Amino acid sequence: MFRRSLVGSDTQLNQLSYYEASVNRPRPAPPLQGAVQADVVVVGGGFAGLSAALELAQQGLSVVLLEADRVGSGASGRNGGQAIVGFASGQGPFEQQLGAADAQRAWDMSLQAVDLIEQRMAAHGMDCDWRRGYTYVADSPKKARALREECDDHNLRGVPSAWAEGADVARFIDSPRYVAAFHEQRSGHLHPLKYALGLARAAEAAGVRIFEGSPVTGLRRGATLVAGTAQGQVTARFGVLAGNCMLPEYGPLVAPDIAPRIMPVGTYIVGTAPLDPALCARLIPDHAAVCDNNFVLDYFRFSADHRMLFGGRVSYTTMTPPNLKGVMAQRMGAVFPALKDVPVEFVWGGFVDISMNRAPDFGRLGDNLYYLQGFSGHGVALTGLAGQLVAEAVAGQAGRFDVFARLKHHRFPGGPLLRTPSLALGMLWHRLRDVL
Ligand SMILES: Cc1cc2nc3c(=O)[nH]c(=O)nc-3n(C[C@H](O)[C@H](O)[C@H](O)COP(=O)(O)OP(=O)(O)OC[C@H]3O[C@@H](n4cnc5c(N)ncnc54)[C@H](O)[C@@H]3O)c2cc1C
Repeated sequence: MFRRSLVGSDTQLNQLSYYEASVNRPRPAPPLQGAVQADVVVVGGGFAGLSAALELAQQGLSVVLLEADRVGSGASGRNGGQAIVGFASGQGPFEQQLGAADAQRAWDMSLQAVDLIEQRMAAHGMDCDWRRGYTYVADSPKKARALREECDDHNLRGVPSAWAEGADVARFIDSPRYVAAFHEQRSGHLHPLKYALGLARAAEAAGVRIFEGSPVTGLRRGATLVAGTAQGQVTARFGVLAGNCMLPEYGPLVAPDIAPRIMPVGTYIVGTAPLDPALCARLIPDHAAVCDNNFVLDYFRFSADHRMLFGGRVSYTTMTPPNLKGVMAQRMGAVFPALKDVPVEFVWGGFVDISMNRAPDFGRLGDNLYYLQGFSGHGVALTGLAGQLVAEAVAGQAGRFDVFARLKHHRFPGGPLLRTPSLALGMLWHRLRDVL
């Protein structure tokens, strides 16, 4: 029950990913050796760090990006690929803390975050299997009422959304499980590792120096920052911390002030063998990505090569659940009986960085060190925006960044050893509510 080092279990969870099996990675970039200088040092080569590095380099700044493992080896290269409008927290924390106008501004930025993916793919010639279309589903009348409110809210906020209930749900998904659904065409889905590698290529083309196998273990703060790895160091005027849940694992002393504000929560995906395209078109007629509105949610979609990628299950203890493949296949079979006996070829997972209120946690430590975390399972689109906002802030235009930086975030109670067990206990209540 007590929290162990995440690095080992995280590496193990990435080994069998469908995404890793379906790309050709370039040769590893060399680790940092010796002392180098830059305008900006970025820690972490996921979507957030790569996006920040690309945008900063496009402004003419010299940028060094330090990645502990390989770029895209963290959550960014193995997620559900669902690029969704809005926030995991809903609009609540924004409206309560920032007022209606800035809450709406944040919502509008979340729409821009999805569009940014498409713009980047076009600008940098990335092929990431991108497809628009998103269906939200509910599996009980109580959940259907909450979903209806969400659908109405989307329509009010400028995302046209079509509602269906009862037999009409089959317009969007052929599953006995769901009693209501709504569909919109603003959100979408992609192959996340292709996108991460595309961002890395674009960043390098813009002049970013990327070092892999280079965990940052220390960071001296001040007017000049010094980020240290085992064999080198980077001196820079500005820094961006984008290490997600692994940041304190690789470098406990890098940012102990922000680490307790997020918690790693395990989430898992299975990938089937390629299926008959006609079956895929029957089960999800327009190939949308889908997720339900349970607290422990199921999220799924078909890949470009017609595999079902079915995500769900969570671990609040950071331990991989037993018989993961079997349990996930069973969940998939409950949603789509037609997939009950199809071969499952891949099972993998990773850690989501949840903040206490599920709103993203962006801010500054001093004047020149920025951090981006707390995407709370909603980071595929928002990370790209986050990188853009940091670059604007470094350039002296912090208006959009500060909409997010003004949100207050709290530490998870319990200190390093007790945080995980307390969270696991707290979450049991929410999981019970899903089945009541
Ligand atoms: C299984 C799974 C499914 C998900 N599904 C979805 C989804 O469908 N839709 C959605 O919106 N979101 C989803 N998410 C969440 C989404 O993937 C993340 O929010 C997003 O990828 C976070 O990007 P990041 O750049 O902040 O972190 P990461 O991609 O984790 O990148 C951080 C990087 O920093 C590196 N690093 C850490 N510490 C250091 C250090 N000290 N020195 C150097 N490097 C360091 C790590 O090695 C890592 O590569 C999912 C997550 C998981 C795990």
